[in-house]
Amino acid sequence: MKTIIEPFRIKVVEPITMTTSEQREQRLREANFNLFKLKARDVLIDLLTDSGTGAMSSDQWAGVMRGDESYAGAESFFRFQDVLRRITGIENVLPTHQGRASERILFELVCTPGCIIPNNNHFDTTRANVEHSGGQAVDLVIPEGRIAKSRHPFKGNMDVARLEALFESVGADRIPLVMVTITNNSGGGQPVSLENLRAVRAVCDKFHTPLFLDACRFAENAYFIKLREPGQSHRNAAEIAREVFSLADGATISAKKDGLVNIGGVLLMRDPALARRASNLLIMTEGFVSYGGVAGRDLEAMAQGFEEVLNEDYLQYRIRSADYLAGKLMSAGIAIVEPLGGHAIYVDATAFCPHIPPEHFPGQALAVGLYRHAGIRTCEIGSVMFGAGGHHVDMELVRFALPRRVYTQSHIDYVAEASGELFEKRSSLRGLRIVEEPTTLRHFSAAFEEIQ
Ligand SMILES: *Cc1c(COP(=O)(O)O)cnc(C)c1O
Repeated sequence: MKTIIEPFRIKVVEPITMTTSEQREQRLREANFNLFKLKARDVLIDLLTDSGTGAMSSDQWAGVMRGDESYAGAESFFRFQDVLRRITGIENVLPTHQGRASERILFELVCTPGCIIPNNNHFDTTRANVEHSGGQAVDLVIPEGRIAKSRHPFKGNMDVARLEALFESVGADRIPLVMVTITNNSGGGQPVSLENLRAVRAVCDKFHTPLFLDACRFAENAYFIKLREPGQSHRNAAEIAREVFSLADGATISAKKDGLVNIGGVLLMRDPALARRASNLLIMTEGFVSYGGVAGRDLEAMAQGFEEVLNEDYLQYRIRSADYLAGKLMSAGIAIVEPLGGHAIYVDATAFCPHIPPEHFPGQALAVGLYRHAGIRTCEIGSVMFGAGGHHVDMELVRFALPRRVYTQSHIDYVAEASGELFEKRSSLRGLRIVEEPTTLRHFSAAFEEIQ
């Protein structure tokens, strides 16, 4: 059979709101053309992010009911710990409220002023936590990872030669650990190969330096290894994930992605001494070691989510959904970043609206246009997000992020059709200017007006 169906049926439904074109026009104006300021109830299909927006399964909801809310020694913690030990082979498992809490604890422990943390690409919270602890965040993704048109199958790979050169030039004592992000979110959700991870591990061994993974999308990464890496197609995603973790000394994980939950995180460490110090910090700001900032019911939902995410039917459907939308957009003539990453499609806004110069934010114009035309919310990743102070950005993109298990094929068909219709009348899209902006992270709250 060619058709890949959603490998679930629907037990609970959540209505979404149809709006008229006049209503959307008014909402846009009230939000000053900033889609972060829309009320979610005014959005028909929300592709703003894949973080914490997934749907939980009936077994996860059953776990929520079963959650043991004892302060210490809760059964739910032991289940959570067992599942993560089984998936990763890493002994020390600390729950946190989300990925950035794991990062904060890790970097507070390992960073000293002037230290350097190499990564393929730091995610923005990772970079912020490294810098907050006095370190410098260095991105060493392979050159292909920076080129939109490159078809390299593992564009998230780390440049191993540059990593080695960095060790040679600054000395291993300034590099407390090496991090690799799987999949590489800031680089478009691009995967990292097993071969590359083994090579990074070898460099870490040579310089006696630990390797940590930012493993938010470890299951999607494992599935890409199965699909794209020679010699891996016969293995299942769980085996591949297990080998990936076997190369690492620890990991930070946001469970809001491949944990299939709405909130939660994990910090994993092999070194028992480091884990003890991490536990002390955890108790100070997150919570006791057996719940770490979430409820017992959240630990149950995470434990179940981490098991379900490695199901091959799920992963096939997940990766195929992105592929399906990408295919439809491309056949409508819309340019996207290839090859596809796991969790989102990135549309090239410069190619979509060539009549809008970067200083008038083509990505924002496209995102506003999609909401105005069809009630779809996407996210600008370009000059609005990264161009404060006249900073140059390489690409003006609009991200269509796919929440996990939330939308069906007909929702995706609607998104593709609406995007195609907008593409046909793309010359009507108008650029914007910023009329008010905060000093940092302006994309969340800036106010825009349209250029007539
Ligand atoms: C989401 C994300 C984080 C941060 O996790 P939060 O749960 O949002 O705090 C870190 N790294 C990567 C790669 C992510 O995608």
